[in-house]
Formats: sequence, structure tokens, C-alpha cells
Amino acid sequence: MRTIGMLGGMSWESSAEYYRLINEGSRGRLGGHRTVPTVLFSVDFAEVAAMQEAGAWGQAGEFLADAARRVQQAGAELIVLCTNTMHQVADTIEKAVDVPFAHIVDATAQRIAAAGHRKVGLLGTRYTMELDFYRARMRDLHGIEVVVPAEPDRSLVHDVIYRELTRNRVEDGSRAQYVRVIRELADRGAEAVVLGCTEITLLIGPEDSPLPLFDSTRLHVEHVLDLALS
Ligand code: GLU
Repeated sequence: MRTIGMLGGMSWESSAEYYRLINEGSRGRLGGHRTVPTVLFSVDFAEVAAMQEAGAWGQAGEFLADAARRVQQAGAELIVLCTNTMHQVADTIEKAVDVPFAHIVDATAQRIAAAGHRKVGLLGTRYTMELDFYRARMRDLHGIEVVVPAEPDRSLVHDVIYRELTRNRVEDGSRAQYVRVIRELADRGAEAVVLGCTEITLLIGPEDSPLPLFDSTRLHVEHVLDLALS
């Protein structure tokens, strides 16, 4: 069994969800009181958010590479970066450590492909929806086409994440808006929707959605448990 290293705090709300799911998943797979040993480094999210806003991705990469080294020094044998957005700098983090890195796009895409979907909608931060790192990996490594909301809905989806979900606020009105956006993605041919931000799972679940949901938080945790226990 490998010790899981959570690189989290982006935001702590979703890292708490990762921690809960890792432990619930461990118990489900191993039984009794067994859990997979886990270390967590929780960064100051304000520092990361400032680098995102400034487009300082090189600096953010070095910042998270340093954090990943600390996670490894604390005993991690596997790194899980608990955010979709910061996978923009996944290569820099991966190069900084000697242990495997569990990529969130691969974890999510494998399950989408297994379900037979070829075209999915993506909800996430502006960076995840607009930069190429997410969509290109889905397309080039997994053969999955990604559609994102048009403006002004991209801004709405992004703002709900930064103004509400990463501030521990879950609003019914925002859930209704997300459901409307999902309907529009369905009209544009999306067969399913990726919750491509690790806090969205706090806002909507399968019972709310007109399309099948692929929750990156849950799928990332399941992938990490597979690796930790293999
Ligand atoms: N947790 C979010 C994500 O999955 C957004 C916060 C961040 O910028 O890291 O993208």
C-alpha cells in the first residue's frame, strides 16, 4: 500500500472532500478501521489565486513543485494535486518528484471513455475552460471532444467557484444556474458533463442534472485509491 500525498488547499473546501472520500473509499475497499496512510500539504490559496489572476503560471509551477517536494519528504509515495486548474502546471510538479503523479484528466477521461461518451461539456474555472491544457489532453490522449459554455455563462460558472464555493458558500440560485448551463451544453451535443472543478461536487449532484455527471473529485480519488492499493 502506498502513502497518498495530497497537494491541497486549492481550496481547502475541496481538499476536505478529498480527505473524506479517500478514507470512506479505503474503508469500503479494505474493511474495518483500515485506511490508506495519507499526508496533506495545504497551501495558502490566496497566493495561488493571485498567481492565477496574474497569469504567472511559471511561478505557480515552481511554488507547487516546492510544495510537492515537501509532500514527498513527508512520506508520500504518490502525489494527488487536488485541483483541476493547477494541472495547468502538472508537468513542472511531476518533474520535481520521484513518485507517481495521478493526473486528474486521465482519471476522469478513463471513466468517460468506459461509459462510451465521445463529446462532453466541461464546467470549471475560466482557466480550465479556456486554456488548452485540459481540452488538449482529453482530445489527444483520450479521443474525447470537450465543449465549454459560451459567454456570459463561462464567467458565471467561474464566479460561482471563486465567490461562493471556495468561500464555503453553497447557494440554491447558483445550482439552478448551473443546471441551466448544463441544459445548454446538452443542446450543443454534450452527452455528459464533467464537473471539472473540485468544488462543484459541493453544489450539484446527479439528482440535479439533466445529463450524466463525471465528478472529477470523486473519480480522482477512486483512481488514486487504485494506484495506492495496486
Ligand atoms: N479547485 C478548483 C479546480 O478544481 C479551483 C480552485 C483552483 O483554482 O485551484 O479547478
